[in-house]
Amino acid sequence: MTVRVRLAPSPTGTLHIGTARTAVFNWLFARHEGGQFILRIEDTDEERSKPEFTDNILAGLKWLGMEWDEGPFFQSQRLDLYRQAIQTLLDKGLAYRAYDTPDELDAMRETQKARGHAPRYDNRHRDLTPDQQAAFEAEGRSAVIRFKIDDSRTITWNDMVRGPVTWQASDLGGDMVVARASSVTTIGQPLYNLAVVVDDIDMAITHVIRGEDHIANTAKQILLYEALEAAVPAFAHAPLILNQTGQKLSKRDGVTSISDFQKMGFVAPALVNYMTLLGWSAPDATEQFTLAEAAKQFSFDRVNKAGAKFDWDKLDWLNSQYLHIMEPATLLELALPYLQEAGYAVDAEADQSWLLPMMAMLGPSLTRLTDVVEQSRFFFTETVEFADDAKAQVQLDGVSAVLEGILTGLTEKSPATIDELKVLVDEVTKAQGVKKGLVMKSMRAALMGALQGPDLMESWLILRQRGFDVPRLKGALALS
Ligand code: GLU
Repeated sequence: MTVRVRLAPSPTGTLHIGTARTAVFNWLFARHEGGQFILRIEDTDEERSKPEFTDNILAGLKWLGMEWDEGPFFQSQRLDLYRQAIQTLLDKGLAYRAYDTPDELDAMRETQKARGHAPRYDNRHRDLTPDQQAAFEAEGRSAVIRFKIDDSRTITWNDMVRGPVTWQASDLGGDMVVARASSVTTIGQPLYNLAVVVDDIDMAITHVIRGEDHIANTAKQILLYEALEAAVPAFAHAPLILNQTGQKLSKRDGVTSISDFQKMGFVAPALVNYMTLLGWSAPDATEQFTLAEAAKQFSFDRVNKAGAKFDWDKLDWLNSQYLHIMEPATLLELALPYLQEAGYAVDAEADQSWLLPMMAMLGPSLTRLTDVVEQSRFFFTETVEFADDAKAQVQLDGVSAVLEGILTGLTEKSPATIDELKVLVDEVTKAQGVKKGLVMKSMRAALMGALQGPDLMESWLILRQRGFDVPRLKGALALS
């Protein structure tokens, strides 16, 4: 049997972290089993589905490296298939047209509530005669198509995450609507549970891997598989992603869209690595791995039932691990959009000679790509603003002479490597009879306008390549 799994997002919003984590589990399982990963866009909700959300979902999955083997298939293009299946259910007497008006349904629920019962459809139109149907049609009522649910059934499946799960059919809310807005001769808009089952049968899906919020649907869907005489796939319900207070992670928690994580400066390999850990742990307890490495070890035996808490510190930590060892050229490519957005004048090709060393220097201190913006700010302007402590530093006794000594050395010797700059520092230290620490601290203050920052000598060389070190030293001297 070839394993076939699918991701079935609804394009009613941007790619959510929960859906993306479901994608990761599907992808890992497919790759582990040498199977296929299929992408299906569930866009039957015409009002809420939007093409821009589909674009966002596809772009997000590609960015994360969740390449799919088949699709994307669009449910909106497959409505006939669902209607055929509904017709089959009608022909077999397993479904029927119900003509209740919204007011009648409300009244029914009110009565149930008043009696202390859970609201459910009481199956009142299950056995309408053709005459009764004709009378409702003549009144101008629209029908829904309901699939009969046998309340005496118990539905069980062996969930790959949760173990045996049992549902009483009587808890499923009565005969279920599989199509809206129908008439005695037509089948209207097919609904979610039916479309999912028809597609999963048609696409020969062997394992349905999705979020825990779909468990109640699974019970209904199993009844549909049986009615359509199809083999029931295996199910795996992944745990919900929770916020710090243990509630389901939602928009109220701020960022939940993959595109937002991207904007915040997380890199795709770190984010997928982190999402893999939202509910799964590797048998060898490693926490940092590529998708391919995780795929080798992945199984649902190690997926937790309990909800997975979203941990920003851990995500930041993982992200920093990827950034710290990233090739400067890759880092430049990824950081470029952030630099451009910050309004820095940057030409990735023309400026490679100093941008690459800058990336090599900054990489090991980054947590998010956005940190590049702050940490590289002073490389983009000829002069700097001086922080108070930096200003005080260059105004200390003897510092002018040090800076002048450096300036002279720069003009006379044109140092062009870190070693040559170090020699110059040593010479000036000796000539001025001061401590080397004073020279270094003063140079940092003069070049960066601050007493903290990245490596001094590497930064100096970059500024030198840009022709900025001399004007900054002069600017510092002008303060004293
Ligand atoms: N379209 C559903 C959703 O976005 C998923 C359905 C499924 O995976 O079976 O929640």
